[in-house]
Amino acid sequence: LVDASFSRIQQVDEKVKAFLTLNEEGAREQAKLLDSKMGTDEMRGLLFGLPIGVKDNISTKGLRTTNGSQLLANFEPVYDATVVQKLNEAETVTIGKLNMDEFAMGSSNENSGFFQTRNPWNTDYVPGGSSGGSAASVAAGEVFFSLGSDTGGSIRQPAAFCGVVGLKPTYGRVSRFGLTAFASSLDQIGPITNTVEDNAFLLQAIAGHDKMDSTSANVDKQDYTAALTGDVKGLKIAVPKEYIGEGVDEEVKNRIMEALKVLEGMGAEWEEVSLPHSKYGVATYYLLASSEASSNLARFDGVRYGVRTENADNLLELYNHTRSEGFGDEVKRRIMLGTFALSSGFYDAYYKKAQKVRTLIKNDFDQVFEKYDVILGPTTPTTAFKVGEKTDDPLTMYANDILTIPVNLAGVPAISVPCGLSNGLPVGLQIIGKAFDESTIYRVAHAYE
Ligand code: GLN
Repeated sequence: LVDASFSRIQQVDEKVKAFLTLNEEGAREQAKLLDSKMGTDEMRGLLFGLPIGVKDNISTKGLRTTNGSQLLANFEPVYDATVVQKLNEAETVTIGKLNMDEFAMGSSNENSGFFQTRNPWNTDYVPGGSSGGSAASVAAGEVFFSLGSDTGGSIRQPAAFCGVVGLKPTYGRVSRFGLTAFASSLDQIGPITNTVEDNAFLLQAIAGHDKMDSTSANVDKQDYTAALTGDVKGLKIAVPKEYIGEGVDEEVKNRIMEALKVLEGMGAEWEEVSLPHSKYGVATYYLLASSEASSNLARFDGVRYGVRTENADNLLELYNHTRSEGFGDEVKRRIMLGTFALSSGFYDAYYKKAQKVRTLIKNDFDQVFEKYDVILGPTTPTTAFKVGEKTDDPLTMYANDILTIPVNLAGVPAISVPCGLSNGLPVGLQIIGKAFDESTIYRVAHAYE
């Protein structure tokens, strides 16, 4: 399998460009070790020997972890993230590290400090972001599955654009230890796979409480694969009118309505509801996420991690020049925005207000979940866009996340599953669940798939 993975990469990655770093020697060595266990009772679990790709903001010991940033072009972590440790225990084989928008800020991979990953369905188009490499590598058949991270949509949006399955778990479900923090109150690691079943297996392996992450929830994980019963009879689905309204492409809407018909045919019921504050999601997110990022990214100072400027005569210059030379434009924009929103005199008007709106957005979800089992709608308002199409206007780029962002603000889980094509490109169906109820999401997604 490992050989097959590398030969597929050799075949297609010149075009797709999903990988930043390959772990060829390490992976082959591990494969040999696993081969010697084949057929013995030392073989562990159902993921044994499967090739996996890891987003480049997740720490892999001794394996370059750049976060898609020139500032960390030479950075090799000294420890594995908890999720990587868990996958090593499950005996998957890490094939390499996957391209991403710098520090996970972006929706198209155009903010990578290295190169542009392409959509395997049509290489003129973006794969989505920020986990673009993670989604593209699975869609192109380079790895069996991958890990991504989702702060405002970065697993679901690229999964939708590349026609694969991507889950953002409940905040706290999966340990963030070893994930480079972008917006700590929103970030979550999750699986990107070809099928819902694979996704459930992978979540089973990486979920669970971790004492190394103080925001990791001490709740039992569910048996995710047991949820794949195919039965959705009597299930109550809510469809927010904001998710099928203005700004959502007609063809995307059509695919969603068709999906609803399929579920209806299986005995589920659906009704239109409202998430009235979701229209403030993008504004709220960009204040909060940028504020948290401005604080989190202060650690990249040229002293502790990665590349250091060669043009500095004193400490202040060392900080300034390292950051000016190392960070890309979007990262600088977020740091400035966040620093402004947190500064005294503006804090109440922006950061504090955004926190209040975040609560209103969460309350909207709570209310709907009193009566319904899941919320359903599109993952994105449009299918993948062309490389370069939105780079001149950050606001239209930000607006692409309008349907994924409220989920992160509320902390609830959501999946994107493929639901047909529009103009030859994949459409994503988003299924949102109650906090810590990934099982129901999987049940619906699997029945539909
Ligand atoms: N596209 C959003 C942003 O640029 C979300 C990114 C993410 O989920 N990491 O911030």
